[in-house]
Amino acid sequence: MGDLNSVKTSWKVITTGLIVLAIIVGGIIGFKVEQQQAVLTESTEVAPVVKEPSKIVAPRNDKQHYQRQATHKNPLPKNEKIVYLTFDDGPSEYTAKLTEILAQHNIQATFFMQGVNLKNKKFTKAVKQASQEGHYIGAHSMTHNYNSLYVQKNFVAEMNETIQLIKSITSKDHRLVRAPYGSAPGLQNKELLNEVVSAKLKVWDWNIDSMDWARNATPESILSTIKSETTQNTEVVLMHEKAVTVDTLPRIIQFFKSQGYSFEVYGTYDHFPMNFAHSKKI
Ligand SMILES: [Zn+2]
Repeated sequence: MGDLNSVKTSWKVITTGLIVLAIIVGGIIGFKVEQQQAVLTESTEVAPVVKEPSKIVAPRNDKQHYQRQATHKNPLPKNEKIVYLTFDDGPSEYTAKLTEILAQHNIQATFFMQGVNLKNKKFTKAVKQASQEGHYIGAHSMTHNYNSLYVQKNFVAEMNETIQLIKSITSKDHRLVRAPYGSAPGLQNKELLNEVVSAKLKVWDWNIDSMDWARNATPESILSTIKSETTQNTEVVLMHEKAVTVDTLPRIIQFFKSQGYSFEVYGTYDHFPMNFAHSKKI
């Protein structure tokens, strides 16, 4: 009996050992795959590792809002609805088309532009005009490359270089940036986040992804995504400088108007945190 028990015990030890080994190997493979995906999905805007960013609630703590409440004869209703339209990856041949539509509705929006496109003289006029018309031009990095920004940790250097390019065109020193692929997981790295804070950069993600970046995006798919995602009083909508977005924009504006939203542009003194890294410092 004693022998049988010790055989049983040995089998238990071996089986447990194998299970533990399988878990460790599985974990390592899973981590490698995630890392690979992080590097490979460069052309889309979605954070590569974090699945679905949790819905961010924007606090109504912005200065202008309270100043307006303080100066308004009739305080603004508590359920005031505000939408920030944001456009990434420009400037492009679509910048002027977007601002033309926005001007027709007297709406100012927030643009996040890439260094390589800002260097293209073809678009300089459109960037200058967008800035003069009251749109906010923020930085979206030089390379848009995950590895360069988050693995080699060039995030701050790239954003500062992009900010200087924007300043050379618009004469404005704008500190709000948008992290390519979103701020998580990239800026969840403490060292990198501290650098961003020290550089006095602010980082905005979004709480509605219009999915206009998808290859098969259509005006119908974009509009239906936005409609189903619109659930809060403060919405920051991620869009891109694309033909399909230009085509859909009038209907997007119409939708938010029909829901009682007013349109605002990002303002340095109205900053509130809107990031997947859940940091109040950026
Ligand atoms: Zn982008």
